[in-house]
Amino acid sequence: MKPRFGIAPDDQALADAIVRFSAEELAPRAQEVDDQEISTVRYVPLLAELGVMGMNLPERWGGAEITPTALVLSLAAIAEACTSTASMIGAHFLATDSILMGGDDELRQRYLPQAATGKKLGAFALTEPRAGSNPADMATRATREGGSYHLSGTKHFISNAGEADFIVVFAKTDPAGGHRGISAFVVDKGTPGLHISAPEKLMGIRGAHAFEMSIDCRVFESQRLGQEGTGYRTAMRILDNSRMDVAATCLGIGEAALAAAVDWAQSRQVGGEPLAAKQGIQWKLADMKMRLEAAWLLTLQACAKRQAGIAFSAESSMCKLYASEMAAFVADEALQIFGGYGYTRSLPLERYVRDARIMRIYEGSSEIQRTIIARGMLSSRPI
Ligand SMILES: Cc1cc2nc3c(=O)[nH]c(=O)nc-3n(C[C@H](O)[C@H](O)[C@H](O)COP(=O)(O)OP(=O)(O)OC[C@H]3O[C@@H](n4cnc5c(N)ncnc54)[C@H](O)[C@@H]3O)c2cc1C
Repeated sequence: MKPRFGIAPDDQALADAIVRFSAEELAPRAQEVDDQEISTVRYVPLLAELGVMGMNLPERWGGAEITPTALVLSLAAIAEACTSTASMIGAHFLATDSILMGGDDELRQRYLPQAATGKKLGAFALTEPRAGSNPADMATRATREGGSYHLSGTKHFISNAGEADFIVVFAKTDPAGGHRGISAFVVDKGTPGLHISAPEKLMGIRGAHAFEMSIDCRVFESQRLGQEGTGYRTAMRILDNSRMDVAATCLGIGEAALAAAVDWAQSRQVGGEPLAAKQGIQWKLADMKMRLEAAWLLTLQACAKRQAGIAFSAESSMCKLYASEMAAFVADEALQIFGGYGYTRSLPLERYVRDARIMRIYEGSSEIQRTIIARGMLSSRPI
């Protein structure tokens, strides 16, 4: 990934270090990670040494306290080398952001410094077999029993869950309360009654494992994040952050696919000239570049608003939505430029296409992002 115009020197310097690390450590193994479905949790100690595992946290809690722009540049660089690694990190951030935003200082002290230094890995469990896009449909219950809660239910597609040391679990404390009845709890690995399945067989991001969890366990009241009924609000604030992480991951896929396509177009000879000499290919490259740049600008705009402390929910949804559609387009066009070679598993083009596909589904599908954006525009006069 080349340095970008208008980026503050400190942000760029941090990104440059991550670009070097990603090119040396992650990229050479990305194909093997995908082929053999090797968990990218193996990289956590190395990532922690660079400060990556705590990039989203303030210094007070052991984090790197970097700007949203530096975070986006770093995740994009990681995703350009290995999308699975970026996805695994994103799931960890979902968990640590939950504790940072929803927890008290005691919980923050107990989990965040260790999470930032890679000693503890987090997971975030919102989705259920019958509740994805609409969390208010969730069936997992948290029933108060003295000074603790009995948690019971099933969560699925939970990234990192099988390897995580702690999992933020969302459950209904008030089943009749809709989304206002949802609370969040931190559940430690090994808690009796917490069972985690083998990883799901995924189309892409095969090094970022996702698991089903069956929950029938007891947690102390002190493990609850904030007041009862605040879980949904906390989750929505966390997702505002994490959708920018997904956008960054998509920018990485777009960068990787476009760079591969440009190289190939210049070296592949067809009819006695490089593919790049053909106008039809040039137009494809121009469209790919334009959409990639537009996705960067939308994402950097969201970063600027977040940095300034201005509400950025719509910007976060727009950059996630646009960048995920851009990544799918750019990866698919890059594969097309490679022709039959692009369809083979000996080159990464088909992996980029598969990795890009989940970006339009998780952390709020494209349809849900459009709903959020439209609601933001229409909210001044209810429909
Ligand atoms: C690899 C992977 C990793 C994941 N990691 C996590 C994780 O770590 N933690 C976690 O909690 N979840 C995770 N998820 C779950 C993911 O966030 C959900 O799959 C996603 O939110 C969609 O929910 P669903 O699958 O239940 O689809 P549904 O909600 O059943 O939706 C199905 C389709 O209907 C559309 N739809 C739904 N509602 C509307 C509407 N109102 N208007 C128009 N269209 C609509 C959706 O966009 C979608 O296309 C992961 C999923 C995968 C596949």
